[in-house]
Amino acid sequence: MPSSPPRHTKIIITLGPASESEVMLEKLILAGVDVIRLNMAHASHEWIRTSIRRIREVSKRLAREVAVMMDIKGPEIRTGDVPQPIPLEVGDLFDFTVEPRPPGAEPGAVRSVHVNYPGIVKDVAPGTLVLVDNGLIRLEVIACDDAAVHCRVLIPGTLTSRRHINLPGVTISLPALTDKDRGDTAVGCEEGIDFVALSFVRSAADIEELRTLIAGHKSIARIIAKIEDQTAISNLDEIVRAADALMVARGDLGIECAVEELPAIQRRAVQACLSQGRPVIIATHMLESMITQAVPTRAEVTDVANAVYEQADCIMLSGETTTGKYPLECVQMLDKIARRIELEEPSLREPAVFTAERMKVLHSAVVLANELPRSKLVTFTRHGFMAQGLSALRPVHSPILAITPSPDTFRHLRLLRGVEPVLMPFGADPADTIESAIGLLRRLGLIAPGDKLILASDIVAQDQRVDSVQLRTVK
Ligand code: PGA
Ligand code: MN
Repeated sequence: MPSSPPRHTKIIITLGPASESEVMLEKLILAGVDVIRLNMAHASHEWIRTSIRRIREVSKRLAREVAVMMDIKGPEIRTGDVPQPIPLEVGDLFDFTVEPRPPGAEPGAVRSVHVNYPGIVKDVAPGTLVLVDNGLIRLEVIACDDAAVHCRVLIPGTLTSRRHINLPGVTISLPALTDKDRGDTAVGCEEGIDFVALSFVRSAADIEELRTLIAGHKSIARIIAKIEDQTAISNLDEIVRAADALMVARGDLGIECAVEELPAIQRRAVQACLSQGRPVIIATHMLESMITQAVPTRAEVTDVANAVYEQADCIMLSGETTTGKYPLECVQMLDKIARRIELEEPSLREPAVFTAERMKVLHSAVVLANELPRSKLVTFTRHGFMAQGLSALRPVHSPILAITPSPDTFRHLRLLRGVEPVLMPFGADPADTIESAIGLLRRLGLIAPGDKLILASDIVAQDQRVDSVQLRTVK
């Protein structure tokens, strides 16, 4: 494949009916998708297994291995099934019940749906807002008893099965991981997922609970904390520290918080990740109008550009690629916008300040790279930490070519801004490993004669770790 220079910003898509066929997966991966997300809101275990195996198979065939992210639902309140859609008009009375009500109730009875969280009757009070289906339907609590929350409709809409409920500002007492999350995670770990994204993270303790679960399954999956409500924003720093990466989940954030707060929250979250050296994903509604139309709105283009200006690691598609009409066009659009805006001056520049000596060596490599036109950073990394350190320092123009002998690390590196992973076994002699790597990078078209290579490595020579930065010119 003749390779255009690597894009720095990574692209995540969500898998669904519009993208899951082998033919479409192939097109999407070739168009430059880096990570594929499986949303557990509507997934069976069988679908998880088939999808992951298909992704691996297609990746292998194309010789372009992508990473797989499983997105588990966490403490999310959902409505149950309704036999048929329920139209709700302004002023209608409607109940959310703890148990399903038997069908065929007497005519004139208040209509209802049950929810997956019995504690709801304790957490809300008259006046609490209940938002259903991404905030599209809005109700107000008028009374509660042990069996139900009684509401009146403020903003109308049609209620379908298994809709998400938001209670803005209410701290709900669901556990961080439900039984379904545990089941989904077990299947994901068995199938070798690379990342688990935990929805509605509220504290560092939630992350630790998931970490223990994953470790129990002997999985290499890294943890992405999804920031979705006011509690997460209050505990942002501890969450960033505890997680391996962050997702700014703007769908729920925009319901749980005042929507005008969203851009400021996004900026603060990106900043927090940059300063602690964690990758960050900007998610939801990036190209929403392309679910039905072949071209984005100008505002969407500017929103994607803003994430790139902020130097986020990844931009993500949801409905655009699950059920949208133009999944491929969406990926091509993200690719084009990202490549274009990466040529501009970034708007946020406050990269990590590392105190560890070893990380200071990486910093000096990045300083050197920034001073040399046509420079490329090359690093040797078993677990990905060297590459992550370099990426966190946000080199201005140089790509980070990360050589790793580990296929797991290779896929983890797909999440990091500016990192182009390359799989290659390490030899016993560091000098030989460097020579082989340079040869491989040339064959892959990732480096060319005249390029300045800045090698940052901590290779072990005679049982001693030698942190070094070397400058070489490609002959
Ligand atoms: P979801 O998370 O798509 O799983 O709800 C993303 C978001 O809320 O933005
Ligand atoms: Mn969400």
